[in-house]
Amino acid sequence: MNDLQNIWKEIKIDLSNSLTAMSFLLFIDNLQPVCIKDNDLVLCAPSKNTQETVEEHYIEKIMYAVHNIGLNFNNIVVIIEEDKSYFKDYIMSEEKNEVVKPKIEVQQEKKSDQFIRRYTFNNFVVGECNRFAFMSADSVAKNPGINDSQINLNPLFIYGGVGLGKTHLLHAIGNYLVENNPANYKVVYVPAETLTNEYFKSLNKYSSDKDAYRKFREKYTKADVLMVDDVQFLQKKGGLQEVFFHIFNDLYNAGKQIILSSDRPPKDINDIEDRLRSRFSWGMSADMDLPSFDTRIAIILKKLELVSCKLSDEIIYYIAETSNSNIRELEGALNKVVMYAELMNKKPSLDLAKEALKVNSIETNTVTLDGNKIIDAVCQFYNVQPNEIISKKKTKVIAEARMVAIYLIREILALPLVTIGQLFGGKDHTTISYSVEKIRSGIAENKKTATIIKDIKCILNVDK
Ligand code: ADP
Ligand code: MG
Repeated sequence: MNDLQNIWKEIKIDLSNSLTAMSFLLFIDNLQPVCIKDNDLVLCAPSKNTQETVEEHYIEKIMYAVHNIGLNFNNIVVIIEEDKSYFKDYIMSEEKNEVVKPKIEVQQEKKSDQFIRRYTFNNFVVGECNRFAFMSADSVAKNPGINDSQINLNPLFIYGGVGLGKTHLLHAIGNYLVENNPANYKVVYVPAETLTNEYFKSLNKYSSDKDAYRKFREKYTKADVLMVDDVQFLQKKGGLQEVFFHIFNDLYNAGKQIILSSDRPPKDINDIEDRLRSRFSWGMSADMDLPSFDTRIAIILKKLELVSCKLSDEIIYYIAETSNSNIRELEGALNKVVMYAELMNKKPSLDLAKEALKVNSIETNTVTLDGNKIIDAVCQFYNVQPNEIISKKKTKVIAEARMVAIYLIREILALPLVTIGQLFGGKDHTTISYSVEKIRSGIAENKKTATIIKDIKCILNVDK
């Protein structure tokens, strides 16, 4: 890779942290670096549409990223393919020389990369479904570990189904604390699955790091604010819950803030020791529910604002009406419509939105093809037939293969649950969601499932 490619890669990495996935994918990822002419960075856009949008909304952001990585260009010039000939000479010389050297020393702001930057309180739309959770998270971010006499927010326990914004709120607390951290709090965020893996790794007696367990404990007991996401995945076996119980007590007794999220309230988490369950309920529990129609509209408007994109009211209503399962899916549907318009190089219309979201549309067919590839790989692994996986057969092997296929399709292609349901002979989305969660917790709990998933990904050549 030449210099220019490397520079562009670095700029993109920085941009990927500050932009939403949607705008990054649509407007940045498909730009090509062309050359550097008179200290202007020249980029090529795949279409006139993209060129205009980037010129209008992203130049400043790109410049900011350039600055962040310690470079300095006078300007960012966006061209389209047919303008390239004009820059021919520069393109040639670009390949021969290294053109750019860092010109200014940048005092890089020390931002934490622990938190997804777009998951902030500002980007979080508040409705009846999540108001209480939002307010609790906001209070905790502003006064971690401090309980006023009326409300006890330690621990804060946020619960609700998938895709309703739990992780977003936890990261919002983290981002807030990183930005406004006068007391230099040590903020630690960890998904329970990662905590589990770290714990078992630290116990590995073959590991070269003899101090691993102590380091593991210290990382968590030294936190001023500890957030554990999806705490329902905290494994019961192997002493982990006992260790976590002690970490919890140490932090709690020292007045440190603990924040937990889960897909259900403490009383409904099956695989958890009673003493932990009771501690989880000591402070405040806040549930997150499905958003109402109005909140869904507000969320769509917010996301559009963030990517500087406009859609007509009728399209927005249509998306809000048809995507009513959770916020992640709502986002997925919105992405689909915007991307579909971009791919087809058309202005978004209601018909286009319907087409984009129609299960058997052209686009879904190409996606289905990929879904089928995954199903084929799973069949190859389990030595079963695709029509058996799609059928209602419930023998052990077929049921397991089906769940694995569902999980992989969801994970790799990120298709909406409803669409995956269609691939499996019209199963409803709760069945699909159940399979995904089942395999996900299987991976966290036992090596065998994790290995199976890894092997099939190998067959598929997916190295995630
Ligand atoms: P969970 O952790 O509950 O499964 P996430 O926090 O991952 O859900 O949210 C899924 C997606 O929905 C994220 O992209 C998140 O930004 C978005 N989201 C969830 N709730 C809201 C909200 N109230 N306002 C804006 N975006 C939201
Ligand atoms: Mg989450």
